[in-house]
Amino acid sequence: MEIEIPDSIKHLYEEGRNPVVKIPNPVLRQMCLPVQKITKKTQQFIDDLVYWSLNADGVGISAPQLGRLERIMIVDPEVGNPDVYINPEIIHTEGEFILEEGCLSIPGIIGTVKRHHTVTVKGLNRKGEVFEKTYSKLGAAVVQHELDHLNGVLFIDRVEPDSLYAYDYSEAAKEKRRKKREEYSTSDEE
Ligand SMILES: [Zn+2]
Repeated sequence: MEIEIPDSIKHLYEEGRNPVVKIPNPVLRQMCLPVQKITKKTQQFIDDLVYWSLNADGVGISAPQLGRLERIMIVDPEVGNPDVYINPEIIHTEGEFILEEGCLSIPGIIGTVKRHHTVTVKGLNRKGEVFEKTYSKLGAAVVQHELDHLNGVLFIDRVEPDSLYAYDYSEAAKEKRRKKREEYSTSDEE
């Protein structure tokens, strides 16, 4: 599904805000290719992915969002404890639930999506070792959301259309960080 970006959040789509690729860039609609060899460049790229996910207070990111069509994704539902997957595959799913999702590539747009409640994902970690983990709820949704990116699928393709709304969370996040900073600066004075 393609969506219209409301004027109130168009500024979130300006070039140069950050390197995260935004809709309607066609790179987000491509199929990513398996990583054949984990090189130093792969490692640096993984660092970039983790950096930009954390920078946005995101819960995950995928390679095409930084413009590379490789099967690499970061899953970080706790924000700050990122799991790296190279060539990931979902090997088991259980149940269903619905949650509100957003996407760094579709900033300011939120909507309700139905996802598997629990998923087990298997892939290689950044050292090239086989890594398998089971996630529920938010973590499971992040796995499915990021894996969709590797197949050119966006959450707006799966969203309940009536649930979509616009929200400038960059302002809300800025406010949250400002409050946090204040907390720390007060404790400094003691
Ligand atoms: Zn996304």
